[in-house]
Formats: sequence, structure tokens, C-alpha cells
Amino acid sequence: MAPQPMTDPWTLRMPAAMATTLRQHLFPGDGDEHGAVIGASVVATARGTRLLARRLYLAEDGVDYVPGQRGYRMLTATFVRDRVRDCRSQGLAYLAVHCHGGTTHVGFSGTDLASHERGYPALRDILGSTPAGGLVFATDAVAGDLWLPDGGRAELERAVITGWPIKTLYPEPPPPPTSDPTYDRQSRVFGDRGQAILAAQKVAVVGAGGAGSLIVEYLARLGVGELVIIDPDRVEETNLPRLAGARACDARTWLTDPARPGWLQSLGHRYATPKVRVARRVARQANGRIHVHALRADVTQSTIAANLVDCDYLFLAADSMQARLVVNALIHQYLIPGVQVGAKVQVGPGGVVTDVFSVVRPLAPGFGCLWCNGLISPARLQDEALTAEQLRQQRYVQDEAVHAPSVISLNAVASAHAVDDYLHTVTGLLPTGYEPRWRRFHPLVPTGPQRVRCDIPRAAADCTECSETGRLGQGHNAPLPTK
Ligand SMILES: [Zn+2]
Ligand SMILES: [Zn+2]
Repeated sequence: MAPQPMTDPWTLRMPAAMATTLRQHLFPGDGDEHGAVIGASVVATARGTRLLARRLYLAEDGVDYVPGQRGYRMLTATFVRDRVRDCRSQGLAYLAVHCHGGTTHVGFSGTDLASHERGYPALRDILGSTPAGGLVFATDAVAGDLWLPDGGRAELERAVITGWPIKTLYPEPPPPPTSDPTYDRQSRVFGDRGQAILAAQKVAVVGAGGAGSLIVEYLARLGVGELVIIDPDRVEETNLPRLAGARACDARTWLTDPARPGWLQSLGHRYATPKVRVARRVARQANGRIHVHALRADVTQSTIAANLVDCDYLFLAADSMQARLVVNALIHQYLIPGVQVGAKVQVGPGGVVTDVFSVVRPLAPGFGCLWCNGLISPARLQDEALTAEQLRQQRYVQDEAVHAPSVISLNAVASAHAVDDYLHTVTGLLPTGYEPRWRRFHPLVPTGPQRVRCDIPRAAADCTECSETGRLGQGHNAPLPTK
């Protein structure tokens, strides 16, 4: 991946648990000023530069945060020195944090800015390749002054707290957006502000099959501005019952008919429409202004996964363990919320259906993960590495492996719930304190309450993926588990 230059806008992303700890430290209810330092990975992308909060160092009042010589309070020289060294050794930006009064408006005082002039040039020199800077928080606002390695200076545009709901803090409330009459009926639910948020989003859908094709259609019609759709496969005739937007001609059914000679059938399979092209067509039919990146590729390739690091949300609708491994890592490493969806029909001996369910697993950075919850199997990862090779050889052979059962309505249940979660979390409609559950919908269970099963995902304290000692907030400072 070619390194991007650090450009505007500068944004900060912070996992919800860290944001809660910081909030309790800054606003304990005493109305006084408190201090801390955040160490943040720096991810420069075509959509701007993201600071990913990885380390939070709380300054103890009276020990690390003391009466100032020029201002009201200051971090001690020892505290600053040790944290800057820590940030430098981990490749992180150094961000000194303090609080002001107020709620939705915040800015640095003249005394604050004068102290930045005195202190940050030296800190920036020690850090070398990452910025130094300061953040000031009010209860519902943040402003930032960043001193860049190239000698430039930038302001923080906003901070995104990646919990449920996803919360965005600005130095002051942004101006009201203009309303778009197309969305009149739905903006009555989440407002012009919610509609503007959707239009500014870049969302990935990994897997453009039964569930993914529906998710693409829902997102495009909601007015999401930019989609990345990733899937390596082409349309087959057996996909038509559940692939949103697919036509018989996409599967080249006149060539793949079993009555045709084998070579014609092969040709049909080889030139069938890629699933991502069908998905792009659906998205554009829904919304002429949408920007779609249709990648007929595998998310486990590092060059493909690199397209997702600046997304705002990730939908995982591919069944492979390898795709789970990579998307799970992206969510925690790059602080991008997401969800895994699926549907399953279990068939026992004699072809008897034993269980049917749809599943929705919302994933927020640092909040339990697919590894912690036993949903990534090392044994199956190994098997897939083998069968992927075999599949490549068999792809154009008529007599392929028998496919698992799959039904559009089961996919629709999972996809609709996942998109509904997304919609309500990004537009800020979820109540604070909302607890995300992983849900399984079992349509064949006779009693009502058992038809929807909810689990609170587990989070292992030392998880290599979603914990602070693992990938969480590492950004480009760690490799992704890609090929
Ligand atoms: Zn201040
Ligand atoms: Zn985990």
C-alpha cells in the first residue's frame, strides 16, 4: 500500500470504553480542570487523516497535573517526558488532554495556545514522524490543535466515539444541512442531520451474495454516499432465487443449460456477470449520486483489505472464516464499527431440516469480537486454505460440490436487522446506554420468546484482536492477517 500524505480533515476515533474512562476522569462532577494524554496511531487516507486512540494515560491530580506557572494547571515535565517517549517508541501521536466547562462549544484559551507555542515544537521533534498536539473537551464537544511532523499545523475537525450509538463531537455544532426532498419520508425519522450523515458515509459490504446484495440495496436506498463492495464470484443460475437485482442473463443461462456442450457451459460460467457488478447496478438504480467501488476480489488479499481502512462501517456478509478473520481485525485495529450477518439451514440425516436461523452480530471496536466468542475456528481456517485451491481447479467443472441451503427471506431478516442497527447508531437515535446484543432468529421454534435469542458477546481481557494489548487502535502499526 502506497503511504498517503497526512491531509485534512483530521479526525480522532476512540473506542467507547476508553471514552467513558476519559469522561469520568475529566468530568467527575467537581467542575474543576483535569488532565490526561492520549497516544494515537496515525492513519493517513484519501479521505483525510485519522488519529486512532490506542493509549490513555490519566494524569493524577496533584501528582501529574499540578498548579501551572503560567496557566491554571499543567502536566508535570516528568509525566510529559515519559508519555512522549512511550508514544515515540510505539509510533503514536502525543495528544495532551484537558477539560473546560460548557457543553456543546469548546475552544482553547489564549493561555492554552501560548503554552502550545512553547511546548509542542520540542515534543514534535522528539516524536519525529507523528504529530504532537492538544485536545480540549467540554461535555459534548472537543477541539484539537495538532503540530505536524512536516512543520504544518492542523485543527481537529471532529472526534468519533465508536460505541452504541456512534457519537460525534465537534468544537461547535455544525450548521444545519439543507434538506433533500427525495428523502422527505425517511428524514422525518432521523432528520436532515441524519440524512446528511448517511450521505457523508463510506460503508463496505464484504460478500455480495444473498445477504450482501440485500444490504447493498438497503444502504443505497437509504442514501449512503459511498459503498465499497467486495466479492470474488460470478452469478450462477442457482443464485437467482436470492440475489437482489440479478437477472437470468447475468448467469448466462442460455449457455450454462445442461443440454449445452460442456465447453459452452464453461464459457457461460467464465463470462457470467460478477456479483459486484450486479450490486453496483442495484445501488446506482436506487441512487444516481452514489459512489460505488465494485471490487471483484477477495478481502483476504492485503491490497483489497487496504480499501477498507477509511470506511465508517463494515458489513461482513461472506461465509468464509478467512473473511471473518480479516474483517474482525479491521474493526478493532482501525476502530471501525461493523456487523457480521448470516443465515443457516441445518439439514440432518435423510435431508430432514433440523434448524433454521438468521444471525446478526454487531461489532464495536474493543467490544468483544469474533475470536473472543469462538466464531473463528483455526481448524476451519486451515481447511479453507486447502479447499480454496481445490475450488479454483474445480470452478469450471460442471459437477461442483453440493452447496449449502440458502433462502432469501432468511437472509432478509439478518440483513434488515443489521442495516437497521447501522441506521440508528450512525444517526445517533439509539439511547445512550443501549446494549448491543447478538441475535439469532429461529422461525421454526414454536414459542415466541425462544424465537429470538440474544447473547451478550464475551470479551477476553487479553484478546489478541480486541483488547488494548492486542490490535485495538493499532492502525498501520500492525499488519492485518491478510495474504
Ligand atoms: Zn484550557
Ligand atoms: Zn476479542
